[in-house]
Amino acid sequence: MPEDSVTEDSLHEAGTFDRELEERLVRYAAIDTQSDADSPSQPSTEIQFGMLKLLVDELTEIGAEDVTLTDYGAVLATVPGTAEGPTVGLLAHVDTAPQYNATGVKPRVIRGYNGGDITYPDNPSLVLSPEDFPYLAEKRGHDIITASGRTLLGADDKAGVAIIMTAVRHLLSNPGIPHPTLRIAFTPDEEIGRGVDEKLPADLGADFAYTFDGAKVGEIEYESFSADFAEITVTGVSIHPGTAKDKLVNAIHLVSKIMQTLPQATMTPETTDDRDGFIHAVEMTGDAAQMVLRLILRDFEMDGLEAKGALVRQVCDAVQAGEPRASITCEIRPQYRNMRYWLEKDMTPVELARDAARSLGIEPVSVPIRGGTDGSRLTEMGVPTPNVFTGMQCIHGPLEWISVQDMAKATGVCLALAALAASR
Ligand SMILES: [Zn+2]
Repeated sequence: MPEDSVTEDSLHEAGTFDRELEERLVRYAAIDTQSDADSPSQPSTEIQFGMLKLLVDELTEIGAEDVTLTDYGAVLATVPGTAEGPTVGLLAHVDTAPQYNATGVKPRVIRGYNGGDITYPDNPSLVLSPEDFPYLAEKRGHDIITASGRTLLGADDKAGVAIIMTAVRHLLSNPGIPHPTLRIAFTPDEEIGRGVDEKLPADLGADFAYTFDGAKVGEIEYESFSADFAEITVTGVSIHPGTAKDKLVNAIHLVSKIMQTLPQATMTPETTDDRDGFIHAVEMTGDAAQMVLRLILRDFEMDGLEAKGALVRQVCDAVQAGEPRASITCEIRPQYRNMRYWLEKDMTPVELARDAARSLGIEPVSVPIRGGTDGSRLTEMGVPTPNVFTGMQCIHGPLEWISVQDMAKATGVCLALAALAASR
């Protein structure tokens, strides 16, 4: 909808960023920065340094100050204020999702999209159709960037990086534009939930911040899931099966019983949407002697999340009661919390972003995120951080695409935000 409500002026202004955004995204997307949940190192993969170091160089080159690469793998920088106002943080993550091939990304640009099916040079069976993705149908005439069909694109979140870099470059080369001090952070390992080091809030030093990691034009998000992780360990009684009668207790049978008893027709990701939470079995490993089952628990409300944890414990207790010779433990630990709990107490950062969008003729929408962002953790740690759209679509897979003109609108919102913050 925003399309035709954008004023001539703002379109013209945003239009000046199209080629820079396109050039940046194409260049950043080709760099492999996939993170790895199984790696204990920080950042999880050495390859992320390629992009992090490039950003250090580019930020230095365009005149940003205090450019640093921290020991936890985040790139930080300052855009000195030209006006009074709160210090505003701008964040994007450099890593790409581990769920799909991200090696050898070959981005390509479709100039002036004609509104038809999009095919992929390296995978003829793959089709991106506006009938399946109505949002694409709205982008006729836009410049669309995709990968080649064998990899994801990584617009999640290199679009965010490109948007922030373009806005920062614009402000640094036009020092007459009033804005407060901006703090930039490019983080690793967001996709594996390890993007926010405990030192980041203090190192960032922002009064509030924004992640540019959202999807459709207009999205200003301030609600994420609250998330817990459950690890169930079932230890049976191991003995040679030849002499096992009345002695052996098989952990595989017991963990199967736990899985069978947990809800399957409700309360799973595949049976829920909107504001409903879920219990999702993500991994089961082991053998007859010992099995480990890992679950993620999600809900927008704390009582809903606690109820899901209680249910998991209850199921474990019931299976344990049926087989006292086994040992069943259930450990539940928090991952992140719904940022709304903090943001609703002071909606200033959210309202600022909404006003920034409206100033460009974009109607802001706030949809709860069925997941978490770096902002979920940051907000909980004291830096209120809503999430702003970038335009990214069909993320974490080979169809992933983005409109350059959507990215330009996000860049416009970023600059409008900085301008509005100066007047508060
Ligand atoms: Zn992301």
